[in-house]
Amino acid sequence: MTSQPLILLLEDEAEIRRFVRSALEAEGYRVHEAEQCARGLLDAAARRPDLVLLDLGLPDADGMVFLRDFRAWSHAPVIVLSARKEEDAKVRALDQGADDYLTKPFGVAELLARVRAALRRRTTGEHGSVLRFGDVVIDMAKRSVEKGGAAVHLTLMEYRLLELLAQHAGSLLTHRRLLQALWGPHALDNEHYVRVYMGRLRHKLEDQPARPRHLLTESGAGYRLVP
Ligand code: CA
Repeated sequence: MTSQPLILLLEDEAEIRRFVRSALEAEGYRVHEAEQCARGLLDAAARRPDLVLLDLGLPDADGMVFLRDFRAWSHAPVIVLSARKEEDAKVRALDQGADDYLTKPFGVAELLARVRAALRRRTTGEHGSVLRFGDVVIDMAKRSVEKGGAAVHLTLMEYRLLELLAQHAGSLLTHRRLLQALWGPHALDNEHYVRVYMGRLRHKLEDQPARPRHLLTESGAGYRLVP
């Protein structure tokens, strides 16, 4: 039997730590708490958490400091906890490799849904190369896409965008990360590239392209594939 996932909770507000810890422990997750960035980095290195919940406003340093250091050696998902006024910081954190965010105050259901999705992505990323949503099957080993059992033809760029979203299924990918990965550093201002290709993917893969259920827009931030 494998042990339950270990979650590092890096947050300086005691009340939020209490709330998050009890919600996660009730689901069987193991939780380790830290209040400061420096301590969080030491504990992360020693304990190798499966997932990190990261407050952006820590007393000794910006949460971004943690994120940059942690991302240098770990691919474990990071969910940012941000205040409403930290909208820019949140998008910057996602650009730097955070997987998702929760805006304070958040509820138990939302917290658990985000944690489950992030941990699921980690598992499928390691073991599976097939992703299904609706009646769509993406086989990343064969680079093939089917809808309702019929092959779907995608251009190379459409496929690369879909593959990137599928590899991070459930997570939010910012415009900047998608542009950087698909078109390179010179295209970072061209948000419309992604919008155009998302439109094409929806047209080919969603039952109702105007009301997508899986290829979702997160307004002002980026896109998310929800299986
Ligand atoms: Ca804080």
